[in-house]
Amino acid sequence: MITVIAPKPVEVGGIPVQRVLPRAGRRTIGAWCFVDTAGPIDVEVAAMQVGPHPHIGIHTVSWMIAGELVHRDSLGSEQVLRPGQLNLMSAGHGIAHAEQASTTASGSQHLVQLWVAQPESTRHSSPDFAHHSELPHFGIGACEITVLLGAMGNELSPARCDTPLVGADLVLREPLQLPVNPHFEHGLLPPDNDIAIHGQRIAAGSLAYLPAGHEMLSLAPTTSTSRVVLIGGEPFEEQLRMHWNFVARTNNELTQAVDDWNNDTNRFGAVGGGLSRIPAPNVVTFS
Ligand code: MN
Repeated sequence: MITVIAPKPVEVGGIPVQRVLPRAGRRTIGAWCFVDTAGPIDVEVAAMQVGPHPHIGIHTVSWMIAGELVHRDSLGSEQVLRPGQLNLMSAGHGIAHAEQASTTASGSQHLVQLWVAQPESTRHSSPDFAHHSELPHFGIGACEITVLLGAMGNELSPARCDTPLVGADLVLREPLQLPVNPHFEHGLLPPDNDIAIHGQRIAAGSLAYLPAGHEMLSLAPTTSTSRVVLIGGEPFEEQLRMHWNFVARTNNELTQAVDDWNNDTNRFGAVGGGLSRIPAPNVVTFS
């Protein structure tokens, strides 16, 4: 059975964003707990500028479909991200970062921003940032597969996973029978063009959710080329509490994170680059 989640439009950093996770009734897919697609938008029209903001308890996974993004964080990292490369930031007990469109790149900007919840065993640990300039990339027939996290076939991504997960970018040019881990639930997001999953048409921008139990996914493009971002993992059993950019387990943890950021304690550190810090909204309601 396939559940389709239609995108919800929001605005992040001055550009239109489509959010499909989390949603009522579907909080996580594996440990994936947040999925946004930003753009496509011409950088001459609007360029993403997200000032310094904090995270706790997650890995942020940034994947460019088009354009370039500059990442800066409170560990001192400064990294340009281009299509085919992966940025993976592990927040642990706290990190801050800023993201903005590269000033040297022109044309369209289009990216997928994902969060992965860290399990209890690592979510209090020190923050970390990794840039993966090369990822496993292979073909099945005329289709192309890039492994972002975890394994596909015999190919293993070098990116860190704290729980059993998979993430991949698929370019479909013909029907594809894709073997997957039957212990994983999966989400498939076609950012550009509709695709078909097991014969069911999925609109571009929507997220298709498939519960665990599938050994093979039957995918097909509806045009000459259809991209699809695949996420999956073992169902994540820990109960998350989320507020703004924070993912924790209790309201007290979220309130503390808001206070620590807004009072500029040394928990999160400073980010270079000159953009203004984004204040945390006070905790009124929790999702
Ligand atoms: Mn962020």
